[in-house]
Amino acid sequence: MKKLDSQSEYGFENPSSPLMNLPPRKTRPFEILRSGNTPAPENVWGGSHKEANSSVQSNGAGEPGSVAIADQDSKAIAQQTMAEALIQVLGEGKVSIEESVITEHSGDKWFANHPPDVVVFAESTEDVSKTLSYAHKNHIPVTTRGAGIGYVGGCVPVYGGIVLSTARMNKILDISPDDGVAVVQPGVVTGDLQKAVRAVGWDYPPDPASLKECSIGGNVATNAGGPRCLKYGVTRNYILGLEVVLADGRVMRCGGRIHKNKTGFDLIGLFVGSEGMLGIVTEITARIIPKPQCRGMLAAIFPDFPSAAKAVHAIFQAGHLPSALEITDAFTLEAARQKLGRDVFPPGDGHLIVEIDGRQAAVDSEIEELYELLLKCGANEILIAREEVECEAIWQMRREFSYSLRDTGLIKLNEDIVVPRGKLVQLVNFARVMEKETGIAVACFGHAGDGNIHTNLMVDNYDDPKTRARADAALDILFHWVLDNGGVITGEHGVGLAKKLWIRQALGETSFALHQSLKQVLDPNGILNPGKFLDD
Ligand SMILES: Cc1cc2nc3c(=O)[nH]c(=O)nc-3n(C[C@H](O)[C@H](O)[C@H](O)COP(=O)(O)OP(=O)(O)OC[C@H]3O[C@@H](n4cnc5c(N)ncnc54)[C@H](O)[C@@H]3O)c2cc1C
Repeated sequence: MKKLDSQSEYGFENPSSPLMNLPPRKTRPFEILRSGNTPAPENVWGGSHKEANSSVQSNGAGEPGSVAIADQDSKAIAQQTMAEALIQVLGEGKVSIEESVITEHSGDKWFANHPPDVVVFAESTEDVSKTLSYAHKNHIPVTTRGAGIGYVGGCVPVYGGIVLSTARMNKILDISPDDGVAVVQPGVVTGDLQKAVRAVGWDYPPDPASLKECSIGGNVATNAGGPRCLKYGVTRNYILGLEVVLADGRVMRCGGRIHKNKTGFDLIGLFVGSEGMLGIVTEITARIIPKPQCRGMLAAIFPDFPSAAKAVHAIFQAGHLPSALEITDAFTLEAARQKLGRDVFPPGDGHLIVEIDGRQAAVDSEIEELYELLLKCGANEILIAREEVECEAIWQMRREFSYSLRDTGLIKLNEDIVVPRGKLVQLVNFARVMEKETGIAVACFGHAGDGNIHTNLMVDNYDDPKTRARADAALDILFHWVLDNGGVITGEHGVGLAKKLWIRQALGETSFALHQSLKQVLDPNGILNPGKFLDD
């Protein structure tokens, strides 16, 4: 694949740019930015803005001090130059090089960060198109950022350049029950979309746990999922149409307000989950569905994890399709008991939450059947929730699992692996063996119905290189086991930087090469989110 190179023309779009008044330069600014900011991979792991820049200072030979100052000056000029050029293209108020803004746009919720040179706050498709057209001509990296709530370093601008934020493109353009669609800009917060759709009696079901913060554009780019995806499907299943700005600035639309469409290839499927590497999504037409009349829940405690996992299979065998089915292991339960009090859960080392929804009479009778079934499967105790407020209390307890693990004082490396549903018990048994062999605690809980069990390695200090090496070795063992057992290394969060090491093996060489070919066609200059999983 073609790499970012330094052969591009340093082309201002507007020859009357005030930058033309800058003193003559020996080196073209974008070359400096690239040589200064192009990190050795290690530079991005957990380094702060200042730390990442320290590689710029140590680049000189001979007289380190003066070279460092010269490099810093050149970098500052180059940064200013790029910002001025973008202001020429976009107008005032949309471009920033303020240090606090740069720092804020350097990382997400994972352990890597690297500063961009410039942040662009796009306000329209036209802004995105102009930015990409400019970056394409000048071979400048562009990393799209939704809300920056990703778990895998996907929006980290590894090669500096431009971070394009969609935060200001946050309008809900239309909610149409007649057509069963909602049309939104990418920066809309997922939870806000859900609320707005529910306010008219309809529903947008994908429910990542981060929905109060993450953007719908980020969900599309990572094909986000959540507990209710068991019955309702992941983000991909709700995307009917996209407007995408291609790497060279051209604007393309695929799909629309129609619920069936077999015109050409499935380009929507290509862009959903493409992690900002194939184009920038600027408008989304999402499918909405009538909101189920009501829901009910059962929360059951089992003597051990295998009995809870067996109950999962029994539920399906009996013909039920719950809207959510969440399982929890002993480690996580113990952490929750320590945080919330020992009496929150009766004794038992496996926990299962079952949610069903639909018409009131159907939900009532299904709850009765499920109660009997869970008892037969060996549940120690079962809590039933029929009212909305009781259901919410159970979900709140489920959300506390993450915080309980955090309160152990350990750092949670959240791995969203997926295994065939029949292998849930093997997975958790394997996690226990791995725990013994590596000395790293493992907490398992998650979406049992999808086989998507968050297998969290709990480490004391991931910034410590020795601990990190041990944790990465354990992850390597886990991912190999998952792949050998027909699973995948990510079901929800994406590959980003976090799983880049394992992607070739996960995809296989032929599929990896095809991914690279598609990238080459859509982004020949390699400017979109470079440094992520398609780089060699
Ligand atoms: C506490 C917590 C809980 C979470 N729970 C879940 C969960 O249940 N399910 C789940 O799936 N994920 C979950 N996540 C992960 C995360 O929330 C999702 O990956 C979410 O989709 C990220 O959205 P974002 O707007 O923050 O995207 P960002 O982090 O900003 O970006 C993510 C990726 O998408 C690309 N991108 C963003 N916007 C666009 C666009 N408009 N066009 C093209 N590319 C774009 C970026 O370049 C990057 O590669 C969780 C994260 C946290 C912190």
